Amino acid sequence: MGGRAMVYERRIHERKVPMRDGQILGYVHSTESFGAVDGPGIRFVAFMQGCNMRCQFCHNPDTWKKNVGSEMTTDEILEQALPYRQFWGEDGGITLSGGEILLQIEFAIELFTKCKKIGINTCLDTCGQPFTHRQPWFSKFEKLMEVTDILLVDIKHINSDEHRKLTGYRNENILEMCEYLSAINKPVWIRHVLIPQRTDFDNYLKQLGDYIKTLTNVQKVEVLPYHTMGVHKYHEMGIKYDLEGIEPPAPERVKNAEKLLHVEDYRGYLEV
Ligand code: SF4
Repeated sequence: MGGRAMVYERRIHERKVPMRDGQILGYVHSTESFGAVDGPGIRFVAFMQGCNMRCQFCHNPDTWKKNVGSEMTTDEILEQALPYRQFWGEDGGITLSGGEILLQIEFAIELFTKCKKIGINTCLDTCGQPFTHRQPWFSKFEKLMEVTDILLVDIKHINSDEHRKLTGYRNENILEMCEYLSAINKPVWIRHVLIPQRTDFDNYLKQLGDYIKTLTNVQKVEVLPYHTMGVHKYHEMGIKYDLEGIEPPAPERVKNAEKLLHVEDYRGYLEV
């Protein structure tokens, strides 16, 4: 192993996890008591703070900064969530979203372990950017998967160069995560934001559709039309908005993307 990799691993080993009362602390941006679009059924959603990516279309740039927001223990999240349990029914439960939840993987492991002990369905909403097969990170991810029922995975762009232009990062490790999840047969819903001039090209959509077909664990594929609802946050935060002037896609382009991604073929979520 080369010197650079070793330094990297040691830094991960030395990573300090914030604790209070013997529990891991999470940095929470906000919570949502009745999430209806964050996994199966009605769900309590905790949006965690911190993301490495800088997606040009991100409508939550206020979640980017790490180590800020409300500090909450896993018990505190459960205390907030449990009063809503009666509304979750068979399918609902708790979703951890972001920002990028995998940047606080230790917190996710602790919370979901507690959830599984009391029979709560767990869903992880991730873009996969921190995924690596390197240790010790990968062992943590394996542990997290033991207590995660389903994942919502956003694939931002199938072409790695375009992915980098759109988000600041390449996508190889993100696709590796998708393939690993397929190999362990962990249910996923895949989502793709359709953005004119960025992702709305037939060749890329076809490539993405073909790629998703190689995975064996996909229950649902969703096309999310780009919208401009978060633009005001960029203006308020004084950040340049790179998609200025780009309008949401026309309904026929959304239909076209749904066809090229074979959305109709993925109906496993109806059996959840
Ligand atoms: S990964 Fe999600 S939170 Fe991070 S920049 Fe992209 S859209 Fe925003």
